[in-house]
Amino acid sequence: MFFHVILTTECNSQCRYCYGEALDDVDEDFSDIEVDYSLPSKINYDIESLRRFCERDPDCVLTFYGGEPLLCLDEIKQIMDETKPKLFMMQTNGLLLDHLEPDYVNRFHTILVSVDGDEALTDFNRGIGTFKKVVGNMKLIKKNGFSGELIGRMTVMENTDIYKQVKWLLQNDEFPFSSIHWQLNAGFWKKDLTRRDFARWSEECYNPGTSKLVRFWVDQMEKKGIVLRLYPLLGVAESILSGENECLLRCGGAWINYAIQTDGQIVPCPTMWGMKSFYLGHIKTADPMRLQKVSVGQPCSGCSSLRLCGGRCLYANVMKRWSPEAYDHVCKTVQNLLDAVSEQMPRIVKLLEDGRIRFRQFEYIKYNGCEIIP
Ligand code: SF4
Ligand code: SF4
Repeated sequence: MFFHVILTTECNSQCRYCYGEALDDVDEDFSDIEVDYSLPSKINYDIESLRRFCERDPDCVLTFYGGEPLLCLDEIKQIMDETKPKLFMMQTNGLLLDHLEPDYVNRFHTILVSVDGDEALTDFNRGIGTFKKVVGNMKLIKKNGFSGELIGRMTVMENTDIYKQVKWLLQNDEFPFSSIHWQLNAGFWKKDLTRRDFARWSEECYNPGTSKLVRFWVDQMEKKGIVLRLYPLLGVAESILSGENECLLRCGGAWINYAIQTDGQIVPCPTMWGMKSFYLGHIKTADPMRLQKVSVGQPCSGCSSLRLCGGRCLYANVMKRWSPEAYDHVCKTVQNLLDAVSEQMPRIVKLLEDGRIRFRQFEYIKYNGCEIIP
């Protein structure tokens, strides 16, 4: 099982699509969902209960999450000293990576660092100076011996040219990423819809860009024998190759991947913190192997793409922050991605048959924080 450990609800960044939207959405009602706004801002349960909880699952993976988890350096170190999960991972904005000693950083199997693309785009979304600081920190942890997987995690919206920005992250001279994942900022807020241009952008820019990226991805397999770790493409292709004929939420949310709030309550995913009707137990008493599973409802449950899509996002499915018409454009991006990868499968299969690439190049640790379906 995978558990996001929410160390704090506070953050040292004020990104447009998170802090800015949260301010705007603050007076939005959550209809019949009761939200606990009084959660402690910092982890307030004893680490011993986390140790005991984790010990009950031999394959427990703990992923530090926030807010910004690196605001809780002491708690990170204490958890890493006192609990024994199979793996540690972290999702961070990267600004404070230089504050955690290499002895700890080097124990992470995977670190996902938020970066939206080149310096101009990243700094526009996340604040001036963010890009240079984060790249400096990533170079530093590499120099200090970090050898785990470093995944560039993009948040994508109308100011992103997906083809250009993913290629830039792969090929730039400052810090070329070998692993990239992205998620669409779509369907998470309510008030953003009126000022968004999602439908036009997704049709004219994002969908053609994604299809072009898939062709580029397979071109690289042909020319260099490499399978670039572009997670949305990797995950879909891996499923097709392994003949997976049913998939649950690809983020693992509410069936293999859960989140532990700052008060120790377990929720289906980090975005659902405080949603009382989704509280699934407390780490002091819950059995990690017997947590309740929650599935997506309509429209996903009746969708012909569910088999490969998995439902995209439980939070979006439950909350329905966007109207059905608006969310339909998100589903069209999913369909486009699935079609674009499916269309290229004959080329991929031929490369595998010819021995120019291997199936193991498509393998990855599932539920590592990459939701696969953006
Ligand atoms: S394509 Fe849309 S409706 Fe269909 S399963 Fe995915 S998110 Fe749900
Ligand atoms: S994709 Fe949705 S359900 Fe899954 S972890 Fe992200 S916010 Fe939660």
